[in-house]
Amino acid sequence: MSRETSQKAFLEAQELIPGGVNSPVRAFRSVGGTPIFITEGEGAYLRDVDGNSYVDYVQSWGPLIFGHRDESIEAAVIEAVKHGLSFGAPTEAETELAKLVVSFFDSIDKVRFVSSGTEAVMSAIRLARGFTGKDDIIKFTGCYHGHSDALLVEAGSGAATFGNPSSPGVPADFTKHTLLAEYNNIESVKKCFADSKNIACVIIEPIAGNMGLVPADKEFLHELRQLCDEHGSLLIFDEVMSGFRASINGAESITGVKPDMVTLGKVIGGGMPVGAFGARREIMAMLSPEGPVYQAGTLSGNPVAMAAGYAALKKLKDNARVIAVLEERAKRLVTGMQKAAEAEGIVMQIDVRGSMFGFFFNEAPVKNFADAAKSDAELFAKFHAAMLEEGFYFACSLYETGFISTAVTDAMVEDTIAAASRVFKAIKNG
Ligand SMILES: *Cc1c(COP(=O)(O)O)cnc(C)c1O
Repeated sequence: MSRETSQKAFLEAQELIPGGVNSPVRAFRSVGGTPIFITEGEGAYLRDVDGNSYVDYVQSWGPLIFGHRDESIEAAVIEAVKHGLSFGAPTEAETELAKLVVSFFDSIDKVRFVSSGTEAVMSAIRLARGFTGKDDIIKFTGCYHGHSDALLVEAGSGAATFGNPSSPGVPADFTKHTLLAEYNNIESVKKCFADSKNIACVIIEPIAGNMGLVPADKEFLHELRQLCDEHGSLLIFDEVMSGFRASINGAESITGVKPDMVTLGKVIGGGMPVGAFGARREIMAMLSPEGPVYQAGTLSGNPVAMAAGYAALKKLKDNARVIAVLEERAKRLVTGMQKAAEAEGIVMQIDVRGSMFGFFFNEAPVKNFADAAKSDAELFAKFHAAMLEEGFYFACSLYETGFISTAVTDAMVEDTIAAASRVFKAIKNG
């Protein structure tokens, strides 16, 4: 398989765009090699500038649950475009999408649309602080909530629960209100609540997808709920990734734990830039112009983006079994790959939540970021490169989740397993 044109395109892009990409993970840094440059997507497939096709298990990092160029989404976008790209004034399309979102989530009475997941989470946290009148927040190591300053935080040394900025350019002053706890470890959360009496909210990916796929234990989430109630803090479920992917009714419907606020993104835009945050009436009433907490956006609720999101969510609503069907297929995929790995003496941990799947080359089950970090990165890089050569596009980092779309057939799943089997054999034979 030649990827010469992609290599040239990457060199040229690097001259003009830092690292050649507009979002770092796309650069393939953690697996080596060159990213493929895409010309088009069609159903389950991506085509690159050299004319190669790949079965796509990334799906734009989550949004495309119906695959590339879904007919109803495409038609909705084209229709919307004909009426104008943006008005900066209200449209009924926003209310229609809001109705759908509210119908899916028990914990959402009202919703505000923004243009990215980063923006959704950043705004939700401001609202939580405004609502509670408190400043500190608790987040979990290994959870990603977008790239806003206060959330780019890593574990401090030793016993410190107050995090340090994980990027230059973020003043330590901006992260001093962010406390870090360990995922699935309730004692670490209790320690944060002991260290600060000023916790506005706990933010968590209830089904974490940014350290590989690591779902939170139900018991852990129940205890988080209790701690938040005891301390008058809000519980925010960041479902930018898991929303409409793990379940159409949110993690709440899987775990039985009700959050105070939910942040959404990815699938909610059907491939267009849309994010959202929602909560019960009383909390959302604090948001400008109803209340004093400021938040705004020139392109928020953009009519073309709303049309794409509406078409995607409506299709999910009308095909309620989609997630269950995708879950079955995703299970077949990772179980098949695990068996193929086992046959070569390679241990693989697997998990599936709806249309999200994860796998780690790791001796032990993964419960948190420290566990995930013990995975075999070198083996993953080899696997990734060889699968790409076989025509299968997996996320280019072992800390990412895989996504299955309705365009992936059972036959494609079987082909993927057969390819994985060849790849593991080749890896084993050095
Ligand atoms: C992707 C993601 C974000 C950030 O969304 P962007 O649209 O990339 O800004 C936030 N939270 C979670 C859980 C995500 O997966």
